[in-house]
Formats: sequence, structure tokens, C-alpha cells
Amino acid sequence: MSDDFLEDAGLDTLAIRAGIQRTHEGEHSEPIFTTSSYVFSSAAEAAARFAGNSPGNVYSRYTNPSVRLFQERIAALEGAEAAVATASGMAAILSTCMAHLQSGDHIVCSRSVFGTTTVLFTRYMEKFGVSVSLVPLTDLEAWRAAIRPRTKLLFVETPSNPLCEIADIASLARIARDAGSYLVVDNCFCTPALQRPLELGADLVIHSATKYLDGQGRCLGGAVVGRFDLVDPILGFVRTCGPSMSPFNAWVFSKGLETLRLRMDAHSASALELAHFLAERSEVENVFYAGLPQHPGYELAKAQQRAFGGVLSFRVKGDKAAAWRFIDAMKIMSLTANLGDVKTTIVHPATTTHGRLSPEEKAAAGITDNLIRIAVGLEDLTDLKKDLQRGFAALG
Ligand SMILES: *Cc1c(COP(=O)(O)O)cnc(C)c1O
Repeated sequence: MSDDFLEDAGLDTLAIRAGIQRTHEGEHSEPIFTTSSYVFSSAAEAAARFAGNSPGNVYSRYTNPSVRLFQERIAALEGAEAAVATASGMAAILSTCMAHLQSGDHIVCSRSVFGTTTVLFTRYMEKFGVSVSLVPLTDLEAWRAAIRPRTKLLFVETPSNPLCEIADIASLARIARDAGSYLVVDNCFCTPALQRPLELGADLVIHSATKYLDGQGRCLGGAVVGRFDLVDPILGFVRTCGPSMSPFNAWVFSKGLETLRLRMDAHSASALELAHFLAERSEVENVFYAGLPQHPGYELAKAQQRAFGGVLSFRVKGDKAAAWRFIDAMKIMSLTANLGDVKTTIVHPATTTHGRLSPEEKAAAGITDNLIRIAVGLEDLTDLKKDLQRGFAALG
């Protein structure tokens, strides 16, 4: 980080102050640099910039001041040397693979990652000769047993989507280190406000900025954060192949980061209360939220997270039709697959976010037909509870 005075600053100060470089206009709020290219003061300067011998912008696929601000701010929050911003969370994962893998390499990935991540690894990475082993998130022996001589990446998401399983990041980091590979943690559900995987030994952190970093469901974006020597090759891929973040989106995310910790605490408090509310209902078979003491990941989550996050899921007693009736009875909660929004969202994973998985993959990942996921927003809790009561009434 370039700002020395922020070296020992707290998370909120970093979220609001890191990465600012004012222009000669002296603006207080961060501007949006909507420019595709940059002018040089002389032919010699142009030549030096293109050759990489002089710092400064050349073209916005490479660097852009608004994108740089976002990169520095998210790196500061994760306690990292560097970050690269991407057009989406999936672009962040793809770019990590393209930069660090080659044909013949192998990935070990948790079975319960974001559905599209599984599709990226199994359908597209395998096309280019990269093989993938899917393992149960919490079974450290299975992670160890899956390691092969060419294992380059261990990929995990914690808490997992949608069942909120908790991975032991420090233990996975040791397994990765022993295998000479890198641990990549998708930190989308916690954000650095609740969990800092690099401090626990992870090598790279992935973000879908689309979710909590924005916080209001406006823009698509992603980031990869970590040591300079691991992030730099990813930046090389992004600037060459083009999944760069737009300056407008970067600006939205930078402003989103300013309120990240406050929002994450509020999301977590509301989710915890709704998890207890749901757990007490006789119509509910199971609630999946690591903030409930009966959750198998409770102690681990307490040790590696500041709070339990905003996403929970539950199984209603009954079948798919029951789950759909429950969801269709909502008046406030939005029926949409997005999460990390001030607006509460509700979704049926088996037929939406995880709909592309085979029946066997769904069964292995615990995505049953009666499972419902809620990403708790910041509306009044009494109104959200009224919505859930409408759902229970619809179960009949
Ligand atoms: C949404 C999501 C992604 C993908 O991000 P996009 O911005 O939609 O491409 C990756 N991981 C997790 C955990 C997500 O929730």
C-alpha cells in the first residue's frame, strides 16, 4: 500500500481512506475515470510507457485510476500486497486458472462451491487438460487423499453456498503447502469485514464484488487478492485477454467498501435472528447457519470469522412443491438468485443456482428439493418475519 499513514489503520479507516489519489481539482469524493485511453506529453513518454519503463496509464484494459483505487482498497482490507479487479467473480476464478494452470495440472475443489464454479472447472478447465477432483468441504482426509503430483490449486468457499458449511482454512493451507500447491479461498460470503483468509495461510482470495462489496445489487465485478508474485501473472492474463473491470463498476465497489463492515455486521445480526426464528418452527426440517450452536461448523466459524454472515438456508418439511409454495408466498423478499444486497433475496437452489448439477452431484452437495436459501438484507426484521409467516401459511 502506498499510503504510509494507513499502515496500522483499522478496517473501517482503510475501507474509507485506502487508495485515494486526488487530482489537481481537489475533489473530496472519488471521481470516475471513464476513459479508454490516456494521452502522453511526448513521443518519448509514450514509448517509455508502452515499454513499461515509466509508470502511468496507457489503456484502460491495463490500468485505470478508478479500478486502481478499488484494487488498492480491497487489497488493504484483505491485508494483501496486491489485487487485480475483474469483470465478474467468475472472471476472477477463470483468470486465476488461466494464469496459474497448464494442461496436465490438477485442481482439488470443494464439492459445495458456487454452482457455476463447478461448471467452470469440470466443463471448461477439463477441455484444456486440467483435471478436477471434487471433495467434501469439511473432510480434511479427503482433501489430502485427492492430492496428486500435479495438483496446483486447492479451491474452497467458506461458508459454503447454500449449506453454510465451514472449511478449516488454516488446515487446508497446510495441506496445500505440503503439496507445493496454492490454497484459493472464495471469500464472497464473509468479505474481509468478517474473515481474512490470507492471515490464516491462504495464498489467494477470490471475490465476487457483485455481492457484498457492492452491497446494493447494481454491478458485476470480481477481484483476486494476495501476494504480488501470485497476483501479477493474473493481472497479466486480464490485461491481455480482456476481462477487466469497468471504471464505473470499480467506483461503485469502492464506495460500497466504505460501509462494508457496518453492513456485514447488520446482515449477520439479522440472519442470526431469522435462523433462530426458523429453527423454532415445526414446519422446518433443518436450518443451515453456522451461527446456530447446533451447526457442526459453529466453533470453527467462531474462531475464523468475526460474525456468521448474511446467508442461511433451510429445508421445509415436504417436497419441491412445498418449497415453491413457500417462496411464492413472499411479498417483501425478492425471488432472485443474487445475494449480498440490502434487499433480502430468496431462491430455490435445486432449480436455479444449482440447477445445472446432475442429480448425483446435487445429492452429494446436499441440494435437496425442499431446500430454500435466504440472503438476509437490511429491511426491518419484523417485516421479514411476517414474510416468512406468509410462507408457512402457504405450506397449509
Ligand atoms: C456469485 C458468486 C460467484 C460468481 O460471481 P459473479 O460476479 O456472478 O461472476 C463466485 N463465488 C460465489 C461464492 C458467488 O456467490
